[in-house]
Amino acid sequence: MSATIIDGKEVAAQVRAEVAEKVSALKAKGITPCLAVILVGENPASVSYVTGKQKALAEVGMADRSVHLPETTTEEELLHLIGELNADSSVHGILVQLPLPKHIDEEKVLLAIDPSKDVDGFHPVNVGNLVIGKKAYLPCTPHGIIVLLEKAGIQTSGKHAVVIGRSNIVGKPVSLLLARKETNCTVTLCHTGTKNIEEITRQADILVAAAGRPHTVTKDMVKPGAVVIDVGVNRIPDSTKKSGFRLIGDCDFEDLKDVAGFITPVPGGVGPMTIAMLMFNTLEAAENARK
Ligand code: NAP
Repeated sequence: MSATIIDGKEVAAQVRAEVAEKVSALKAKGITPCLAVILVGENPASVSYVTGKQKALAEVGMADRSVHLPETTTEEELLHLIGELNADSSVHGILVQLPLPKHIDEEKVLLAIDPSKDVDGFHPVNVGNLVIGKKAYLPCTPHGIIVLLEKAGIQTSGKHAVVIGRSNIVGKPVSLLLARKETNCTVTLCHTGTKNIEEITRQADILVAAAGRPHTVTKDMVKPGAVVIDVGVNRIPDSTKKSGFRLIGDCDFEDLKDVAGFITPVPGGVGPMTIAMLMFNTLEAAENARK
């Protein structure tokens, strides 16, 4: 048996096309959805993530108010800029690319973003609303995982979902989304304190790996036919590449593809969904501002 590959690039393109259509409709009513991505410094991975976001903004027809600040920017200067963007009614979404330079308090910065413009879904108001089941901007990667499952036609209701990882940006929120009535999974959340993790993962109908370590999930940990969602993005040295590295996930893809029923590749699985869902949230923010 060979697993069906869930093509995140294709699903993300579908989501962006749906968003682009709605952006055109909003533009016809005189509103151009607008996102401000703030990048501080020159971290190469962050620069490349921001470039990807800007490319997607152009593709879906949204306005781009991104700001690239020098590494030496003070916390006060950054907070001042966020205050200006909060007050600017033509800006619907604000995203601060993480990580920030060490001299800036990330929590203080994220708290400064108006929750109604927090299209990353990281502000405690949005996190709290997600927990109690109220309307919220859903964090992009976890939301992207749910949309991938939906668009791949995977039935989730009554299934046992096992999540590896409990971070605030992936593990915890994806567990909550999987457990929501709409998705209706029974969820087990694993972490480094979990004993006999392979016994738990082998019970998973849906296994989400968000550990940030290569080879976290091997063949013996997966039930035949299970759906495997690999969130991990790990750089490993590769002298055959111009960059000197390549990206791999948390799962042993080659090993798993004969056991799993469905699997997401890395790259080209969850990654493209994150940016697509950011476009989705920015559109929602513009629609909410209009209301
Ligand atoms: P993180 O903050 O480092 O959290 C990793 C979590 O995994 C922690 O809760 C940790 O447990 C757990 N963990 C680590 N090794 C484990 C193991 N061997 N067994 C069980 N649990 C283990 O990472 P993150 O921010 O959630 O990101 C996870 C991965 O997803 C990274 O590779 C990241 O690059 C990737 N990512 C991808 C996207 C995307 O768009 N594709 C977006 C975000 C993140 P403890 O809490 O016990 O330490």
